[in-house]
Amino acid sequence: MIIAQDVEKWYDNNFHVLRGVSMTVTKGEVLVVMGPSGSGKSTFIRTFNALESYQKGKIFVDGILLSHDVKNIETIRQEVGMVFQQFNLFPHLSVLQNVMLAPIWVRRWPKARAEEVALQLLERVGILEQAKKFPGQLSGGQQQRVAIARALAMQPKIMLFDEPTSALDPEMVREVLDVMRSLADSGMTMVVVTHEVGFAREVADRVVLMADGLLVEEATPEVFFNSPTEERTKKFLSQIL
Ligand code: ADP
Ligand code: MG
Repeated sequence: MIIAQDVEKWYDNNFHVLRGVSMTVTKGEVLVVMGPSGSGKSTFIRTFNALESYQKGKIFVDGILLSHDVKNIETIRQEVGMVFQQFNLFPHLSVLQNVMLAPIWVRRWPKARAEEVALQLLERVGILEQAKKFPGQLSGGQQQRVAIARALAMQPKIMLFDEPTSALDPEMVREVLDVMRSLADSGMTMVVVTHEVGFAREVADRVVLMADGLLVEEATPEVFFNSPTEERTKKFLSQIL
């Protein structure tokens, strides 16, 4: 589903943020990306739906080469859903309208169909009873579940999560991780930047450590957490475990 080959990126023509990153994600796989703040995790996963450009190397998403071609970018954005740390819901729209918006405008679905699918998704993430409320009336955990439903409404083939629980109060982390876990169980291909070790251990097929714009280590969760090879990984784990 995703192939990244020697991807390099510079910010402002001088800061070398991705320094040759290669990685593949196969269909149905869950890849967890860990690493210190500032190591390039967000930048890297944002390249997968063309929120960030890159200057060297190649990225294929579902066989499509990510380039600057606008049509290409539109296609990719429909295939790759993204969930951010800060929910990014539209505050002036109801929960239901947030989830219906993209299918109506991008997929040109009739309103009735978009609403039917949106209601199903809200049920799936456990907040059907909040459909008429506005984002500001919900807890952080509920808002993040709306954001997941909104991304799923576009029927993506891949879901990207960028620290989806980092902005949540501790008691709400679980409800969001549970939704992500059930999504993984349903066979969704997922790339998840998170420091939730329990989630990574139980749900990830592979875990990678990113540091200073490079993938330092890639392993199964078992090996990654119990017997990592690289000093950089050991140091990182000693800071978070
Ligand atoms: P992470 O998600 O691992 O914390 P980021 O990908 O957000 O890392 O950032 C990697 C580095 O790139 C950081 O040093 C950050 O300050 C820098 N950076 C991020 N976005 C920009 C930008 N738009 N312009 C310039 N530098 C940026
Ligand atoms: Mg980040």
